[in-house]
Amino acid sequence: APESADAVLDGLDPEQRAVATALHGPVCVLAGAGTGKTRAITHRIAYGVRAGILQPGSVLAVTFTARAAGEMRGRLRRLGAGGVQARTFHSAALRQLQFFWPRVIGGELPRLVDRKAPLVAESATRGRLRLDRTELRDVTAEIEWAKVTQTAAEDYPLAAAKAGREAPRDPAEIARVYAGYEELKRERGVLDFEDVLLLTVAVLEDRPDVADQVRAQYQHFVVDEYQDVSPLQQRLLDLWLGGRDSLCVVGDAGQTIYSFTGATPEYLLAFRTRYPRATVVELVRDYRSTPQVVHLANGVLAGARGKAAAHRLELVAQREPGPAPLFTEYADEPAEAEGTARRVRQLIDTGVRPSEIAVLYRVNAQSEIYEQALADAGVPYQLRGAERFFERPEVREAGMLLRGAARAGSGADPTLADADVPGQVRAVLGARGWSPQPPAGAGAARDRWESLAALVRLAEEFCQASARAGGPAPTLADFVAELDARAAVQHAPTVEGVTLASLHAAKGLEWDAVFLVGLTEGTLPITYARTDEQIEEERRLLYVGVTRARVHLALSWALSRSPGGRGGRRPSRFLTGLRRGAVGGVVAGRPGGATGSRGDAGTEAARRRRRGPVRCRVCGRTLSEAGEIKLMRCEDCPSDLDESLYERLRDWRAGRAAELG
Ligand code: ATP
Ligand code: MG
Repeated sequence: APESADAVLDGLDPEQRAVATALHGPVCVLAGAGTGKTRAITHRIAYGVRAGILQPGSVLAVTFTARAAGEMRGRLRRLGAGGVQARTFHSAALRQLQFFWPRVIGGELPRLVDRKAPLVAESATRGRLRLDRTELRDVTAEIEWAKVTQTAAEDYPLAAAKAGREAPRDPAEIARVYAGYEELKRERGVLDFEDVLLLTVAVLEDRPDVADQVRAQYQHFVVDEYQDVSPLQQRLLDLWLGGRDSLCVVGDAGQTIYSFTGATPEYLLAFRTRYPRATVVELVRDYRSTPQVVHLANGVLAGARGKAAAHRLELVAQREPGPAPLFTEYADEPAEAEGTARRVRQLIDTGVRPSEIAVLYRVNAQSEIYEQALADAGVPYQLRGAERFFERPEVREAGMLLRGAARAGSGADPTLADADVPGQVRAVLGARGWSPQPPAGAGAARDRWESLAALVRLAEEFCQASARAGGPAPTLADFVAELDARAAVQHAPTVEGVTLASLHAAKGLEWDAVFLVGLTEGTLPITYARTDEQIEEERRLLYVGVTRARVHLALSWALSRSPGGRGGRRPSRFLTGLRRGAVGGVVAGRPGGATGSRGDAGTEAARRRRRGPVRCRVCGRTLSEAGEIKLMRCEDCPSDLDESLYERLRDWRAGRAAELG
């Protein structure tokens, strides 16, 4: 291997090196949080590419969230392995389907519906079945589960009984609603998210010519977070492989948090049996967190029961000691939000960057009060899925123009010909009236100019970074891909804020400081977690949350919802025993509530005034309907096919579930 490839191995420990250099045959990494699984596979790809063993275009790396995919693309590029596809299962399948659809089916890919519930409700009504809101939600979840476990409508009753599902209605009725729902979609000519995977599977199975073409393209597969693969995703993976075994998977059974959607750690745990000659590596050294955080994480899993617990690996901390995790009990939720915002502010004042801080909660419905508290404390924040910079109209428009120019190539526009990328960006923006000289004065025109100037600066930085990494000069298409990646990871060049995210969306990510809030019975574990397995999954969510922190970790809960409330909330059962030896104490809400008498400060209208209107992410129209505001998209706007959408919707659904439950 050339010297430059070996450099990629620097900074890996011996076990991680074993992963990175095992470029042939099946590889499986079983390890706890923060042990460098993602790092090991990213470096493995980079090592293979730089050593000339893996062709960048022949590698498909699959991760589970859009943000994680974006981060992996960024890391690969910095390691000199740009051009490798790092995607979610959903976005990889969607791309393939869009590509093959005209040839295999003809015409354009049908529209994707992102809200199943209205169609499920319609199907129920057709079948003269009345479902209340809770039942509608639960029946919809059953249909999703059936689809990802590849269960047809007529097989649902038997399969659900076998899997021990608690069917919200008579299983035969659910089967009828499910069949009717599929029928409705056919009539309307629309697809849902599971259909994207199901149809990709169908095309690959039925059309050997298509399967051959996909397999000729992708020869090496890497799957991060493999413990959360669903049977449907596994089937797609098997079809991509087509009997080959150049597959590297990494996972942690202790972080299985998507079982409710049909995901299962079974494939991870059975990997050795399936591939007896696999290279299997276990990692236990935790590089992410301080010993205090690692100790707490081990404590969370120590109480675990069930299948995943049997495969538990105790983490061994590698980092210098840091502050003890903070446990705080608040009298009420506003006090908790205000107290959290104050601590966030303190951290920022002591030099922690806002982008290195996260506030994580169980359901998205909890975000609102933290948004308000952070805004009141003057702390910039970003919600997962919402990106201010890339949402600005001028930036969106510029993105579209650049994408068009990149697709057309320089042949279509002589002013772009072999100019470097910043020059091309200036030319494209210049054709729409942008000039390198800022307009006089402040105001909207100046703001608009600044945003576009930031894009030009990004292009310059992008080229400089590629040059430093010793790679070839990037093309406009590379830069457009970079913009997409940035939009996905929300690292705007000019906006940097505290992350607000659900625990599900935080998987695989890390921050210097993490605040886990709202840790009460009923929220974690959530009310509708009933069976032992469901409760264990809630525990794993806490484990995922704790292990996101590098240095500062704060856990909190509130005894009542509103100031002066009757209380009645109890701290999460998972905290029992963890608090021993931990610092922290009870912070009582001030009389009349933490924020004093708030007048109309808490009303929706007041919040709207403070933050400005919520706009549709697709068309920019101001939204007024509550459901639309939550989705940040008009009911009738076409889905933007954004890969993070699925994830957002999942969060949204969990949030709705909590509201209704
Ligand atoms: P998770 O289970 O949460 O996805 P992971 O096992 O994928 O975690 P990584 O995100 O790859 O872990 O690594 C955790 C942190 O530790 C990262 O900041 C990474 O850069 C750092 N790290 C990993 N391996 C090493 C190493 N050998 N030396 C120094 N730092 C490392
Ligand atoms: Mg990881």
